[in-house]
Amino acid sequence: MADARELARELGFSRSAWMDLSLLRVYPEVREICAAGRCQRYEHSWSCPPACGSLEHCARRMAAYDRGLLVQTTAQLEDDFDAEGIAAAQTLHKMRFEALARQLRQLQPDCLPLTAGTCTLCRRCTYPERPCRFPGKRLSSMEAYGLLVSEVCQQAGLPYYYGPKTITYSSCILMKEGIHT
Ligand code: SF4
Repeated sequence: MADARELARELGFSRSAWMDLSLLRVYPEVREICAAGRCQRYEHSWSCPPACGSLEHCARRMAAYDRGLLVQTTAQLEDDFDAEGIAAAQTLHKMRFEALARQLRQLQPDCLPLTAGTCTLCRRCTYPERPCRFPGKRLSSMEAYGLLVSEVCQQAGLPYYYGPKTITYSSCILMKEGIHT
């Protein structure tokens, strides 16, 4: 039996915590932020809205899982405007999460990893001209599924923000019974 939390620790995540999936809520307001186009991925990726499905579809999908593991990467910054430090922390977190998702998908192919930010597996997403290159590997974000990341952190007993001169990225992976602590 795999130990998902131990795997997260080995991959270098700063912290992890089990989630209470019965508390998960999806928010139309989060979708509205996606649609406002700040990250410019809305209607530009198979992993993002609207291609990742309606909020109702996402809520139904998440409701099919028994366990969820929240993982975080926290980095120290030179100051709160340290763009290089922020970008490096994001890259590191996404690398760790891609490795976690890959390994847990080997154990449970239909688990649901929800990353931080859009899918970056391909340099250029094929949306909408051609089908997704890696449908079994692509990663939607927690926001794409309508989750309020700060609320999910709080529900799992982890802070969302660790104070000045820090940046934290959070992601989660939902699983059926079988991958245990
Ligand atoms: S795997 Fe590639 S084609 Fe599929 S959603 Fe991710 S970036 Fe787009």
